[in-house]
Amino acid sequence: MDARTRAEELDKASNLIFDTLIIGGGITGAGILLDASSRGLKSILLEMQDFAEGTSSRSTKLVHGGLRYLKQLQLGVVRKTGKERAILNKNAPYLIKKVDMMLPIYKGGSLKKIPTKIALYVYDRLAGVAKQEKYRFITKDEALEKQPCLPSKDLSGCFLYTEYQTDDARLVIEILKTSRTYGANAFNYCEVTSISKENGLFIVKCYDHINNKEYLIKSKSLVNATGPWTDKTMKLNLNDGTSRVVHSKGVHIVVDKNLLPLSTPVYFENTDSRMIFAIPRLDKVYIGTTDTLYNQDPKTPKIQDSDIDYLVNAINSFFRNHPITRNDILSSWAGVRPLIKGRSNNTQELSRKDEIFISTNGMITIAGGKLTGYRLMAKSVVDLLMKGFPGLNAICVSESIQLIGTNDSFNTTQEDWYFKYGASAASIQSEFQGSDIEKELRYCIRNEMCTNLSDFFVRRSGMSYFQPERIEESLKYCIKIFKEELGWDETLTQTELIRLRKDITV
Ligand SMILES: Cc1cc2nc3c(=O)[nH]c(=O)nc-3n(C[C@H](O)[C@H](O)[C@H](O)COP(=O)(O)OP(=O)(O)OC[C@H]3O[C@@H](n4cnc5c(N)ncnc54)[C@H](O)[C@@H]3O)c2cc1C
Repeated sequence: MDARTRAEELDKASNLIFDTLIIGGGITGAGILLDASSRGLKSILLEMQDFAEGTSSRSTKLVHGGLRYLKQLQLGVVRKTGKERAILNKNAPYLIKKVDMMLPIYKGGSLKKIPTKIALYVYDRLAGVAKQEKYRFITKDEALEKQPCLPSKDLSGCFLYTEYQTDDARLVIEILKTSRTYGANAFNYCEVTSISKENGLFIVKCYDHINNKEYLIKSKSLVNATGPWTDKTMKLNLNDGTSRVVHSKGVHIVVDKNLLPLSTPVYFENTDSRMIFAIPRLDKVYIGTTDTLYNQDPKTPKIQDSDIDYLVNAINSFFRNHPITRNDILSSWAGVRPLIKGRSNNTQELSRKDEIFISTNGMITIAGGKLTGYRLMAKSVVDLLMKGFPGLNAICVSESIQLIGTNDSFNTTQEDWYFKYGASAASIQSEFQGSDIEKELRYCIRNEMCTNLSDFFVRRSGMSYFQPERIEESLKYCIKIFKEELGWDETLTQTELIRLRKDITV
């Protein structure tokens, strides 16, 4: 995935006939690309923005074990999600950080000790949670020692259970790079603008926003994995106007850890009984999320004053911290959940399940779901695709595919790079010259199709969220690298600086 040869690769792709073409480069599309290519399908993925720029870089960044499904008694889903979490941990350990999630119990709160204990007990068994990761209960004193800013009044104690923290955008990129090892192609900034079918072949028109060029890509099968854009993409195909998804917006804010000194994440009940996460990462803490119906453009979900007030008030009315204000917010993000339409208009009540729809011309659409279930979602889609390729081995092998950065014996002192790039951290260190930021960016341009400053600061390095203070000092080095690697001139540099400023505005 080399940004320097992206245009040539696209030219080449337009002369080929693919077995499958996937629209959408979020976690769902990336998972399908890996599964399809590893089963021998000649596969291509087209993403209209940067990879993961849709919902898949805007989540709470947790690989959940499916605890929330227990409440809805979806026991089969809890079992499957727990298993998926363990598979991801085995296949991409570098992308997972295990953390103790604290679930405090208060007298008079709606979370009661005995029902929560039963739920966690059942969950541990159903989800096949490893012995050392099973839940435990700590006393009030132990809880306050561990987390002094918890309110002590009416605190009965605290449950601790293991959550897996990840970096959603990095997970997408690492899956795409792994797909590349199976010969798959993936292009960012390529927007699918029309779909037709002639003589059994899908003809997909796409617009390359980087070189302002239109391409026609041919494929024997077609998958719509466009998340919040599911309905829009279905409309491109056969002018199908049926509406399948509803959008729910979720917002996160980031503050300095000095203001909310948490030693480990806390999942607490807000005054309106909604559960909120407060999760430390590096020297920051992120807090989220909201869940509100959203009817505007999913491309640039806006954070409203009311979203910020909600989260700031949640923190200030729960923790014994020095009150935070909006001025303390260092960064933030909003994401749009693509939820399968149901009977309720209340997005919190809508199921997070995924669903497949097959159009009359054979396009397969998959929507809904969670980051955590991406591998199983991909398996369902590719199982269907394989029916069109009877000569190929149809067995799914993704359960045993280790992502490209996995290397059991790898050891590094660059902990931050290891969490992002796994074993590739060593080559970043040894292959390139210059400062750390120059090395990291050069690697991302040459291996991760990083084409501009936002790609790098927001989705490759995650710096805009958790180290925004590093951006200004890094800019001149990064611009120099883009000039050397991609031949940026002054006009393009200014355009990209404007894009970055817009993307990182709180
Ligand atoms: C606030 C929030 C918190 C969440 N937290 C968690 C969590 O902690 N754990 C978890 O497991 N899940 C979580 N989720 C759910 C998870 O993030 C989503 O289910 C998942 O990211 C959806 O991925 P996707 O690939 O289906 O959609 P997307 O990531 O949106 O990908 C779809 C892609 O399609 C592209 N596209 C659209 N139209 C076109 C076109 N015409 N041509 C080319 N490309 C196109 C878009 O640009 C987009 O990148 C959360 C979601 C939200 C909103």
